[in-house]
Amino acid sequence: MSDPVLMGPGPSNPYPEVMAALGRPLLGHLDPEFLALLDETGDRLRAVFRTTNPLTLPISGTGSAGMEASFVNVVRPGDVVVVGVNGLFGERMCDVASRCRAEVVRVDADWGAPIDPSRLLAAHPSPAVIAVVHAETSTGVRNDIEELGAGKGDALLLVDCVTSLGGIPVEVDAWGIDIAYAGTQKCLGVPPGLAPMTVSERARERLVAKPQSWYLDLGMISRYLDSGARTYHHTAPISMVYALHAGLGVVLDEGLERAWARHRECGGALQAGLEKLGLELFAAEGHRLPQLTSVLAPVGVDEKEVRARLLAGGIEIGGGLGPLAGRGWRIGCMGHTARARNVTLLLAALGEVLA
Ligand code: PLP
Repeated sequence: MSDPVLMGPGPSNPYPEVMAALGRPLLGHLDPEFLALLDETGDRLRAVFRTTNPLTLPISGTGSAGMEASFVNVVRPGDVVVVGVNGLFGERMCDVASRCRAEVVRVDADWGAPIDPSRLLAAHPSPAVIAVVHAETSTGVRNDIEELGAGKGDALLLVDCVTSLGGIPVEVDAWGIDIAYAGTQKCLGVPPGLAPMTVSERARERLVAKPQSWYLDLGMISRYLDSGARTYHHTAPISMVYALHAGLGVVLDEGLERAWARHRECGGALQAGLEKLGLELFAAEGHRLPQLTSVLAPVGVDEKEVRARLLAGGIEIGGGLGPLAGRGWRIGCMGHTARARNVTLLLAALGEVLA
């Protein structure tokens, strides 16, 4: 059987250039050639995050490590952290913030609906952190960020960009985001394993001196920025850094705007095609992510059986979560997977299975 077309919520199919990079011979993690590649990876991440933040790097670990690194490094016991919750990953943020012994102020919206930024801004008069998921992978909803940056006051703005980075506009500096983290396996077209992250100078000044996590202590990891010398902290996952470097290269060669447009066109075609099949989209209109589409299965159809039949034909899609669990699907169109031919293939296969 040929490789499956990965149209789940993640991972997406990696770019061929990324697979080639994974096969490169290893260098030592302190080899000057590797360090130069790591520096270039930081430059590429700055370009994709649209930031000049010196502290921009891939954290060793998946997207959840990025989330954890974000919270443990700026949240002190008793700090008020406002968290927007309209899906699984907002819930996870609350869990992580409460483990940092923050006073968590939740702002809930229905799964499938966006969070009104003014509710987040009004939730507390002086929070230390306002945290929100930009692209909620559990529902396919985009939460608006720009207004939060404009109104955040003294708070730090912490944004999960795991599913948004590379797929839809993320403007770290222009939107006033202080801490953003992502994952490699979604719109960057790289296997899972690293968490790209960027931290504003404003947030860097507020880093916790000794966070509860040794491994994710950004102060230690970023000491080279002040000292100018890289020393051993942990052994970088060399091959994954090669892969990320290559994936970012593909995205930047294509052009970030063109990559966003490709995601928009593929997601738009997919969503129109699903509606043509008579299916109902789950996420609120106007806030639908092109890279992750949530859709209800027709009443009486066993959604698991449909997924199994698609997988047998070489196409993987994801099941629902929360209110969509057992009732529908989440279909990814991210990174290298976001191609018109994959959309056509899936719509034809789904139409056949449903018929
Ligand atoms: N945040 C969002 C929005 C995600 O979609 C995911 C994973 O899908 C995560 C965080 C966690 O990332 P990981 O599974 O790579 O640890």
